[in-house]
This record gives sequence, C-alpha cells and structure tokens, in this order.
Amino acid sequence: MKAAMLYGVKDLRIEDVEIPKVGLGEVLVKVKAATTCGTDLKIFRRGYVEKVIKLPTVFGHEWAGEVVEVGEGLEWPKKGMRIRAGNSAPCLHCTMCQKGKYNLCENMIWLWGAYAEYIKVPARMVLVNMQEIPQHVSYEEAAITEPLACVLHGAEEANIKPGDTVTIIGAGPIGLLHLLTAKKFGAGRVISIDLVEDRLNFAERLGADETVNAGKEDVVERVRELTGGYGSDVVIEAIGLPSTWEQALKLVRKGGTVLEFGGCPPGTEIKVNTEKLHYGELTVRGSFHATPLHFRKALNLIASRTIDVRPLITRKMRLENIREAFDILMTSKKEIKIAIIP
Ligand SMILES: [Zn+2]
Ligand SMILES: [Zn+2]
Repeated sequence: MKAAMLYGVKDLRIEDVEIPKVGLGEVLVKVKAATTCGTDLKIFRRGYVEKVIKLPTVFGHEWAGEVVEVGEGLEWPKKGMRIRAGNSAPCLHCTMCQKGKYNLCENMIWLWGAYAEYIKVPARMVLVNMQEIPQHVSYEEAAITEPLACVLHGAEEANIKPGDTVTIIGAGPIGLLHLLTAKKFGAGRVISIDLVEDRLNFAERLGADETVNAGKEDVVERVRELTGGYGSDVVIEAIGLPSTWEQALKLVRKGGTVLEFGGCPPGTEIKVNTEKLHYGELTVRGSFHATPLHFRKALNLIASRTIDVRPLITRKMRLENIREAFDILMTSKKEIKIAIIP
C-alpha cells in the first residue's frame, strides 16, 4: 500500500509499505479521509515529542474509514462499517486512569498512520476509542473528531458561563474550533486574536464578534477597551508559545479563567504576576488531549451539526501530493485543514 513516511524534520516520503497484518482483537481499516492538523505541521517543521511519536513512522493521526478486516475475538465492529478511531487509548488501570484522568494515562498508546491506504487499529483502541460514523456524516467531518475532542475537553475546563466574553488567542484550526465550541457553551461574545488578516476574516465568518490583529494593535489595550476596562471573563491560548501564554494572563479579568491550551516547546517557562494571581483571584488551567468520552461526545456534536466542522476543510488533496499539502500549509495561511484522500 501507499503510505506517507515521516523520517525527520521536513522529510516526508510516499513509499510502498506492506499492509499491516491483523491479529487478535485488531481491526484493519481502509482510510477514506485524513485531515491535516497543527500538531502534524509542528512535528513536520520543528521535530517531535518522543513520548507521542517515534520516527520513522507513517504520519497522520486524524482519520476515518471503512472496516475491511476484523481480527479474531471481536463481535464489533463489522466488516464494511464506517468508523473513526484513536488517536489514543488509555489503559484504564494506571493511577491516573483510576483517578478518572484518562487523558493523562501513564501507559497511553498513540496511533499514527493515517496518511496511508490502510491503518491497523490496536486491540485496546478498538475497545475504548473507536466509534461508528452515522451515514449522513462524511469521512472528512468524522476525521475532525480528534481535535474537537481535545477542544471540548479544554472548553469544559475553561469554565465558560452563558453570556461570557471569551477571548481566543490564535485563529488557526484549533482556535477556530474553540470559537465554535465557546459559542455553543453560551459565550455571549468571542474576541478572536491572530496576526493574519485572512484568519481573522475566517474567524469572523465563523461567528467571532470582534477580531484583533496582534500585528497592528496593542492586544491588551484593545481587549480592555472591548470589555469596559475589565478584561475578558475567559481567555483561551491556542497557539503554544510562552509569550502568548503570558499575554493570556494579561487579558483576563479579575476572577476570570485562563486556559493555556497550546502546547509550548519543551523546557520553556512563563512568568506570572503574583499580585494579579492572588488579589485578582485568577484561575489558570492547562489542558491536554482528551478522554475516550470526549471523543464520543465530539463525534455526536459533529453528527448533530451542533458544531459544524465542514467549513474548516478548505481543500482536498490526494495522498500522492501530501508533500505539497504540507508546503501549502507552511506558506499559505488561507488553508485551515486539508483533507488527504488516499
Ligand atoms: Zn490533531
Ligand atoms: Zn492508564
């Protein structure tokens, strides 16, 4: 089968590899669509976190497809079923899992290999993180279950109340998913911040009430102005840089919540003003990944179109052209997510 192998930074090659053999409890799926994601782009351009991905490997982690082979011992799924799965499966028995923090599982398995004609789903993942896709939902839409699950988890932690002003730093794929989700959580007003005008326009089309171009305006001043001098009830950082993590702390009102969502480069630190944290009673939360329940909920939200993810897929490309797809993502800020079709 054809597969896109990642060997290192910017080294992605289409190769002929063997179709994985299915063992006990495993499932082979014909990939129908895989979507590109900010995490992929980050790994492609600056390297990887060894805990999550080991190179070389078939790349890609957001996907959906059709079951073509079901391993021994499984009553579900059935051959021909439309499914999505992964990209993680917790063990359910480590200390973190026992505390219900399945997203922090110490024995998490991660599945890569979406940019290929076939993908094998490990037995544990079949059991805890694979769902059937309703007929009316396209494979491309279903592929977005993974990032939406992470965003949904974050939104639950962000403590958004009906009518709140929610400020989102970053209008890339994740920032935009946060925008759609915050609206459904009852945000009265969403302020979207980015450096790229095209992205801010996109955010506006998706329902952002105010946009701030961080390259042209003083962000702290502008958000104060828009909030009667108080700052935002909730601030969500969706970029993953220490500087914007710190900026988020300056945009929140007293008693408000900051959700530091974007993963920063390893080893980085931020400064926090102790007075602001103490006298301002700030809540600052990190959020990482999602639990199997979030994946299930995210697919339901996509299926009911409560969160319509279709506008985020701005282009479709063949698997053979994946290198070109990543070049486009690196240079053009107009594309949000590219659906890769094997
Ligand atoms: Zn992703
Ligand atoms: Zn565990």
